[in-house]
Amino acid sequence: MATGLALILDKKDYDRSDILAMLQCSEEEAPLLYRCAAAVRDRYLGNSIFLRGLIEYSNICGKNCLYCGIRRSNDKIERYTLTNEEVIEAALTAHRLKFGSIAIQAGENWSNAFIDNMEELIRTINKLTNGQLGITLSLGEQSRETYQRWFDAGAHRYLLRIEAASEALYRRVHPEDQMHRYHRRIECLRIIQETGYQTGSGVMIGLPFQTMNHLADDIIFMRDFDVDMCGMGPFIEHSDTPLGANGAANLFLKERFNLTLRMIAILRIIMKDINIVASTAMQTIDPSGREKAISSGANVVMPNLTPAKYRPGYQIYQGKPGYREVTAENISGLNLDLIPGTTLGLGVWGDTPHYSRRTAGN
Ligand code: SAM
Ligand code: SF4
Repeated sequence: MATGLALILDKKDYDRSDILAMLQCSEEEAPLLYRCAAAVRDRYLGNSIFLRGLIEYSNICGKNCLYCGIRRSNDKIERYTLTNEEVIEAALTAHRLKFGSIAIQAGENWSNAFIDNMEELIRTINKLTNGQLGITLSLGEQSRETYQRWFDAGAHRYLLRIEAASEALYRRVHPEDQMHRYHRRIECLRIIQETGYQTGSGVMIGLPFQTMNHLADDIIFMRDFDVDMCGMGPFIEHSDTPLGANGAANLFLKERFNLTLRMIAILRIIMKDINIVASTAMQTIDPSGREKAISSGANVVMPNLTPAKYRPGYQIYQGKPGYREVTAENISGLNLDLIPGTTLGLGVWGDTPHYSRRTAGN
C-alpha cells in the first residue's frame, strides 16, 4: 500500500498542503519525488535537454536589489557593455554549434540608446541566422512599448523572475522605493504575456526570512500565472551587497541546493509541460548541480557564451563560474553520463507545448 509521499504523488490535483508535504518529505523519500518528476518530463516533453546560449550583455543596472552583486550601488565592479560585434559573434557561435536559442541578459537599463540598440541587435541576429536562432530576453522591467518593439523585432521569450511571490518577502529583499515595486513587477509579467512572449518567471530559494510557506506560495504563483518557463535557483550571498554583508559565509548552501531540487521536482509534477531551467547557481554549489536538477525534472540549461574577459564583471553572486565551459566537443558543459536516457535537443528552439496550449486557450 502506498504511504506518505507515494500517496500524494498518486493524486491528480495538488493543494497547498500537498505542496508543503512534498517540500518537507524525508531525505529517504526525496529520490522518489525526483524520479517521479523526471518521468513526468519524459512523458510530456520527451527526453531532450534544450540549450540557451547565455549572453550577459551588460552589468550596468539602474536598480539596487539587496541581493545582487551588480546592483547600482556596488562601486567595486567595473561596468561594461558588450559591443554589437561581440554579441553577434556570440550569437553566431550559438547558431554554428546548434544551440537553437540564445538568451540575452543584462542589468536594467531604460535609456533610449539601450532600447534602440537592443531592437537593432535582435533584428540583425534574426537576419543573420534566417530566423533560425530563438531569442530569449531577460532585461528586466520595461514599458509596454519597449516589450512590443523587441517582440516585433523577433524576440519571442522573456524571462522576468518574480524573485519572491510573497509581497512581504519581496519587500524585505528590495529597497523600499518606487523603483522596486512588487506590483509593477507583476504588471510587467502580465504585459510580457499579453504581448505574446513565451513568458518565464522564477524565484530564489534560501533568501533570508523565507519560509516553507513562502516556497509553497512560489509554486502556486507559477501555476496561477500559468508561466511557460521557470528559472529557479538558490540564493547565494555576495559580500558587497546588503544581504551578503553579514552572511557571506554561505551557511546552509547544501540545504538551499536540496530545497531547489525539490522545488524543481514539485513544479514539474504540477506544471507538466513547461520549460524548467537547471540554473548555473546549482552548479556553483555542486559541480554536478545542473545534472541533478535535470534528474529532478528540469529540461533547459544555459551555457555561458559571454566573452571571458567580461565574466568577472557579472558576478551577481560569489563563486559564479568565470571559466569558459562551452567547447566544440562539449557544447552544453554537462556530464551526460550522469543523466542517462537524456539527449541534447540540437538546432531547435525547444518551445514548450504549454505555450501553444495556453495561447490556443486550452
Ligand atoms: N536585471 C534583470 C532582472 O533582474 O530581471 C536580469 C538580470 S538579473 C542578474 C537575473 C537574476 O539573477 C535575477 O532575476 C535574480 O533572481 C538572480 N540573482 C541576482 N542576485 C542573486 C544572488 N545573489 N543569488 C542568486 N541569484 C541571484
Ligand atoms: Fe539589477 Fe537585476 Fe541585479 Fe536587480 S537582480 S540589481 S535588476 S541586475
